[in-house]
Amino acid sequence: MPFELEPIFIVIGEAVVYFALFLFAIAVLGSLLIAYSFKTEKFVFPGFMLFSITILETLVKALFRLVGMDDSIVDDVGISLKNKISLRKFRETPVNKRLIFFPQCLRAETCSSKLSQEGMQCTNCGCDLGKAKKNAESMGYKVFIVPGSSFIRRLVRKHKPKAILGVGCMTEVKAGIEMCERLNLFGVGLVLEKAGCVSTVLDWDKFYEFIEFDEPA
Ligand code: SF4
Repeated sequence: MPFELEPIFIVIGEAVVYFALFLFAIAVLGSLLIAYSFKTEKFVFPGFMLFSITILETLVKALFRLVGMDDSIVDDVGISLKNKISLRKFRETPVNKRLIFFPQCLRAETCSSKLSQEGMQCTNCGCDLGKAKKNAESMGYKVFIVPGSSFIRRLVRKHKPKAILGVGCMTEVKAGIEMCERLNLFGVGLVLEKAGCVSTVLDWDKFYEFIEFDEPA
């Protein structure tokens, strides 16, 4: 006697297939919007893009790879969107409740700063990072140059900020913004123009743009 499926299993099977097709359609549409936004630097349906990136990141990245595109575009657009959403809240936060984290790889190669519990102890001997730290601190920010994410977690627990600006490579910034979301902090991130272990490069104009249009403490 041939094997027959119960009608309920057929209904469940069809529902699963339709749901998978629905998700696939969202991922395709999200991917097209992300690629368009990346190319034109204009955000179209940002809420929908953020939804597709947050819920269907793996699938959206797979679609990018399938058509031979760099899947880091998905992270790039995701970070820009989240910055757009959080930047106003970041600037509305009293400046003494904002922390800035720089990676130690941004220091000059000749840097002689020593590591302490609060990160690298910059003596402001003249590199762009030292100048940026000093400028931000004169505005009231707490600024740290750190060798890794374990420092960030510890300093966040210690200083209890309400908003954070993190600088780093794409992976670090993405992880930092996700940490802020888990901790209910307003997190924004700046991705390095050139990443690596030493002599990394940041667009300093962008950094000053982020910190200068802020509310008084
Ligand atoms: S300014 Fe600070 S970070 Fe830059 S090289 Fe000097 S001590 Fe190092």
